[in-house]
Formats: sequence, structure tokens, C-alpha cells
Amino acid sequence: MIWASVKRLFFIGISSSILPRKFYFRIPLTTGWITRIDPSLSSAREKFAGAIYCPTDGSGDARMFTRNLAEYCATQLGVTFLYDTEIRDLETSGDRITAALTNKGRIAGNEFVVCLGVFAPRFARKLGVSLPIYPIKGYSVTMPIGDKHQAPTVGGVDEDNLVAYARFGNRMRVTATAEFAGFSKTHKPQDFTHMLRATRELFPQGADFGQPDYWAGLRPMTPDGLPIFGRGKRFANAVMNLGHGHMGWTMSAGSARIVADMVKRTEPAFNPEGMLVKAV
Ligand SMILES: Cc1cc2nc3c(=O)[nH]c(=O)nc-3n(C[C@H](O)[C@H](O)[C@H](O)COP(=O)(O)OP(=O)(O)OC[C@H]3O[C@@H](n4cnc5c(N)ncnc54)[C@H](O)[C@@H]3O)c2cc1C
Repeated sequence: MIWASVKRLFFIGISSSILPRKFYFRIPLTTGWITRIDPSLSSAREKFAGAIYCPTDGSGDARMFTRNLAEYCATQLGVTFLYDTEIRDLETSGDRITAALTNKGRIAGNEFVVCLGVFAPRFARKLGVSLPIYPIKGYSVTMPIGDKHQAPTVGGVDEDNLVAYARFGNRMRVTATAEFAGFSKTHKPQDFTHMLRATRELFPQGADFGQPDYWAGLRPMTPDGLPIFGRGKRFANAVMNLGHGHMGWTMSAGSARIVADMVKRTEPAFNPEGMLVKAV
């Protein structure tokens, strides 16, 4: 659910109209309906003019999903994950990458998928591709929900404060902020003041605000917000899967489909036109 003041709602209505209705059904809501769908917003109802509700939308814990997926791949599909292993260079021969050279040794391969997040541009020159990817720092805070709390039941975005929230069982997670801070992922309690104030105004009894679990990360942003896929010209066996910005988890399954089709050199299930890597 996205909700906001009249002016913001007007612009959200226009910008969201590019989403195909078939897959992304949207219902405009008045304040009365908002609090019927999520009663926990009752005490904040005078703060917004209306909302856009997407019943097909959802939210989840990306970390839990990723860890469980990795475990499934390792135990059921025979995938080997090498953790705490840093790729320092690439070994090449002609138009092929032959191995990744890591702090734990040489790892040979036939096909390589480049998915290094904000650090990918460091390899761009070697790969012969243009990677306009910049680290944009964001913050999230997760708080426990007890029996006495009136936590949100539907994930949402406060468009006036640019604060997003979601409930994961007995926890509430709130995320916000886009900052140019280089590659630093450090954080201090003051960094969360704005988002916690906005959250308290929405859900005064929403969670245990006295037990915040703080986190900060870097979004691999591109100037136009689109991810980058495809093969560069220099190496025939390297496929990019990069630049997913603030929507990397949302786009992960679709991106994996595109990349898998590229690695297999089959007709892509989705057309990646407009998102293909540029050679330099
Ligand atoms: C505060 C915040 C909130 C967010 N909220 C959402 C959300 O609600 N929904 C959503 O869809 N997305 C969200 N995102 C965005 C999402 O986290 C990113 O888009 C996604 O993580 C990008 O995935 P990635 O695999 O490209 O990069 P990363 O997740 O950064 O993974 C890249 C990996 O490559 C590794 N790596 C880099 N260099 C090397 C090297 N030389 N050797 C070995 N390994 C290396 C890194 O250690 C890292 O593990 C959020 C991000 C932030 C910061």
C-alpha cells in the first residue's frame, strides 16, 4: 500500500500508470478504506489523503529468503558456495575468462556471472564494459512486536516521508534514506531518527521502539534505475547481472531468468532490451 498527501498521490497515480494492470492491480483508497484494510493506521488517518492499494503486492524478509535459498541450492541441487572468498583478479585467455583469482586460490570456470553489486565497476575496465553503478546508502531498522503492540498488517510506503515498512511475523522492519556516502556502511543511532519519528507517528504502539536492530547497506544504483544484463564484447563467457538499485530482491527472480537464458544462449523468456550492457 502506498499512501500520501493529495499532491504526492496525484504524481504516484501518474507514474504508476506505466505498470501493466494485468500483473499489478491497483485500487485507489480513501482514508476510510485504508483503515479498514489496515486498522493499525487508525490513529494516523488525518496524515494522509488516500492510498493506492495493490492486493497482489507482498513483502518478505530478503535475508531469510536468501539464506534458505542458498541452503536449498547447497543441499538439494549440489551447488557449492565459497563464503569469505574475495575475487582479486581474473585470468583470461583470448576472448575468454578462464578463472577467478581469489584470496583462497584459482577457481576455473566455463561461464562467469558478474554479480558484484556496488563493487562491479572496479572490474569494469578489465571486462571491457561500461558500468555506471554507484553506491547509494540506505538504512533499515527492525524491532520486535509483542502481544500488546498494534503493528501494521499490510506492508506500505509513506510517500511523504519516503519511509517503507513491513511486518515479518513478530518483527517490524522500516527502511528509508538514500545517501551518497562512498562505500561506507557504518551507522549510528542518529541516522535512524527521521525514519523512527515517522514510524512512531504512524504506529505509536506498532512495535518495541526500545529494542531497535540497526542496519545499513549500499544499493547498486544506475542513473536510470534499470539493471544491467548481457555480455561485454571483450569476453564471450561473462554475463552481467548488476545495478538493481533499490529493487534487487524484487527483481531477483526475473533477473535470474534473464541471466540463465543468456548463459544457456537460449531465447530469453523476458526481453532485456534497454537493459543491455554497453561495451567501452
Ligand atoms: C536499506 C535498503 C533497503 C532495501 N530494500 C529493498 C526492498 O525493499 N526490496 C528490494 O527488492 N530491494 C531492496 N534493497 C536493494 C537490494 O538490497 C539490492 O538491490 C540487492 O542487494 C542487490 O543485489 P546484488 O546481488 O546485485 O548486490 P549485493 O547484494 O551487494 O551482493 C553483491 C555481493 O558481491 C560480493 N562481492 C563484491 N565484490 C566482491 C569480490 N571482489 N569478491 C567476492 N565477492 C564480492 C559482495 O560481498 C556481495 O555479497 C534495499 C537496499 C538497502 C540498502
